[in-house]
Amino acid sequence: MPISSSSDSDVPVTINSEKALVVLSGGQDSTTCLFWAIREFGVDNVSALSFDYGQRHRIELDSAAKVAAFARVSHRCLPIDTFAALGGDALTDPAIEVAGDLDEPSALPNTFVPGRNLIFLTFAAAWAWPRKLDNLVTGVSQTDYSGYPDCRASTLQSLQETLRLGMESQIKIHAPLMHLSKKETVLLARQLGAIEAMAFTHTCYNGERPPCGECPACRLRAKGFAEAGIADPLVT
Ligand SMILES: [Zn+2]
Repeated sequence: MPISSSSDSDVPVTINSEKALVVLSGGQDSTTCLFWAIREFGVDNVSALSFDYGQRHRIELDSAAKVAAFARVSHRCLPIDTFAALGGDALTDPAIEVAGDLDEPSALPNTFVPGRNLIFLTFAAAWAWPRKLDNLVTGVSQTDYSGYPDCRASTLQSLQETLRLGMESQIKIHAPLMHLSKKETVLLARQLGAIEAMAFTHTCYNGERPPCGECPACRLRAKGFAEAGIADPLVT
């Protein structure tokens, strides 16, 4: 709720007291979203949350911590160890190789972790609720991506409705990259002053630093920077 304070002038001073929680994976997109939230809500009203879900590359969590420190926002990491126990996907199961190209274009890639974004956002909402953080920000996008069904706008709309009902809240889920291409995301990052922070981010599915340049995540990132005509500080 806006807070007004009286002053000598007739114009009330309005302070935006809305707060936002950014789900920060340590990747390029969630980093861009962190800077978007800082612009929208002010740096003092933004915090970041990461999840340790047994991802095979711990470097992601280091990246998230570095990005949050660089942006001067508070950051917490919560453990969720159930995904690794489920198995069956290339991001948490060391026995499964990340597929470079799909034999069946219509099939989901083996990097899909079923329910991951739904669980992340639900836990984020549960973290946000007692802290009165009414805005969740996520870097998911339905454009230019691998076709993960939990990255679609309709999925987020439905989840927002469920969270509002289930928590008696007015929580809003923001996905500022939802309809942007990778190129447009890079251009937005520049507009937000987030390019420098990209040096701390992690994208490579093979967990390599410097990145392998060969996996689907590396190739998508490189394509976005190339099309935007901006040098990626991670590889230059
Ligand atoms: Zn890679």
